[in-house]
Amino acid sequence: MPMPHVRSGLVPTCRAHSKRTGLPCQNMCAFGSPVCRMHGARRPESISRGMEHPNYRHGNETRAQRAERRRKSFELHQLVGLGNATGLFGGKVKLKGRKPNG
Ligand SMILES: [Zn+2]
Repeated sequence: MPMPHVRSGLVPTCRAHSKRTGLPCQNMCAFGSPVCRMHGARRPESISRGMEHPNYRHGNETRAQRAERRRKSFELHQLVGLGNATGLFGGKVKLKGRKPNG
């Protein structure tokens, strides 16, 4: 049952439909969005587009170059681990980012 102010028709409602029933969603829209918070409303400035998007294809690196970088990163990670184990650095050195796959 929608809220009374939504039933009045003065506020815009979500344009999404239920996957199960096919009925329209009865929630009110999030501010500045055509859908409600349950159906993926986001602030426009938080959506990354173009070069900011993680899947953007820039073409700066070939697959072979990327594989080589991955191999070297793994090698560096192993060397830092070896240096930490032998006390070479005089303290524990930690690399940024996630552990590279060999
Ligand atoms: Zn909705």
